[in-house]
Amino acid sequence: MRIAPSPTGFAHLGTASTALYNLLFARQREGTFALRIDDTDLERNRPEYEALIYEALRWLSLDWDEGPDKGGPYAPYRQSERVDLYRQHAVRLLDEGKAYKCYCTQEELEAERRQAQFEKRPYKYSRRCLTNPPTDRGVFAVRFKVPGGSVVFTDMIRGEMAFDAELIGDFILMKSDGFPTYQFASPVDDALMKITHVIRGEEHLSNTPYQLMIVDALGYERPIAYAHMPLILAKDGAKLSKRKHPESNLMLYREQGYLPEALINYLALLGWNPGTAQEIFTFEELMRIFSFDRVQHAGARFDWEKLNWINGEWIRAMVDGELAKRLQPFLSNLDEATIMRAVPALKTRMTKLADATEYLDYLWKEPDMPALDAEQASRIDMAVDALKEVPWEPEPIEHALEGVVERTGLSKNKLYTPIRLTLTGKKVSLPIHYTLALLPKEIAMTRLMRAVPA
Ligand code: GLU
Repeated sequence: MRIAPSPTGFAHLGTASTALYNLLFARQREGTFALRIDDTDLERNRPEYEALIYEALRWLSLDWDEGPDKGGPYAPYRQSERVDLYRQHAVRLLDEGKAYKCYCTQEELEAERRQAQFEKRPYKYSRRCLTNPPTDRGVFAVRFKVPGGSVVFTDMIRGEMAFDAELIGDFILMKSDGFPTYQFASPVDDALMKITHVIRGEEHLSNTPYQLMIVDALGYERPIAYAHMPLILAKDGAKLSKRKHPESNLMLYREQGYLPEALINYLALLGWNPGTAQEIFTFEELMRIFSFDRVQHAGARFDWEKLNWINGEWIRAMVDGELAKRLQPFLSNLDEATIMRAVPALKTRMTKLADATEYLDYLWKEPDMPALDAEQASRIDMAVDALKEVPWEPEPIEHALEGVVERTGLSKNKLYTPIRLTLTGKKVSLPIHYTLALLPKEIAMTRLMRAVPA
């Protein structure tokens, strides 16, 4: 198995989803999983984007067995380092008469295309350079001579697929700059790297007949099967695009504090269903039950609510010490012991780790004084009285405040809202007894007393 991401931008959600399905399948079959960097588009590739792919996949523990950084029996794993191989294969196809040199200029090809449009027929290259090549030109691309017939293959999701190759025009294998097209490099590598199952996004379904014709022309063994996974769609049904949809950026999930386990869980369910009501899965569980026959054909819509729910479930299930460790980057102003004390309360409220910053920043930022009316101030006064002698732990604090509620007949809301506003400057906080207990007692009392007119 392999994935072949192109380092042309931030690491994409689709790359993680493809990697996950490949890895699950590879682990089920005791196969190997390679990361191949598809970087033959010189203008759009950047090494820093390649680094982002590694970082994102490692964060998700979608680890590969072979790749540019790890080596392996089919190295190199970066296509830009394999250009000689593609050239040799192109020369072989030229020698065998399965490909030919094409000298046409962009303008000439454009004119052919326009003519086809004008005559309302689907465009196919005219084969001018096959039948009547010019003799006075030096710059050429290498074009594949499409043999025609039909191309049939097995797709593990869609079943038997058949494409009519008569509709496919001769296409470019090597560009005039000496670099291969994706359509050529990809099947050459899949064959040389002995990829048995090509698992990739549905947008590549129509590329498969092109690539199989090349494998056949080279006399290589075909992959056993393909799987073209449903596209991930935005909520509105549009294809997720790097530009328009921030949710396509994998790093965003780490920044907002989605747990990698939860994102994996969510991605597995986006396009696949287990056939039972279970929704929370570890990677190991997925490995046991995942199969391509339960992958849907239609595009899968991204659903933040479901992801948030799954993330919350993972957060609540996590042991406190581990959660505290994961929270540290979001709470760099707090020491470990404070984070640990906050965890039980945070657990009940958070959907993502970044929420912790919002809940706890009152511990290191002095809030603005809220505008309280006289009644609210007097309620704080009562709370101050009740809290004076109380040991500074959540339970006794809760007990003391409940005592005030009982004695005065006030609602909890009436008593707690001004306390919350005064301590945090916010209307929403952790449960009030935790909000108090997490601050050192003198600071909590000083903030409260400041709200009471002398
Ligand atoms: N570079 C292509 C992509 O990122 C690879 C497609 C393939 O798996 O063949 O979509």
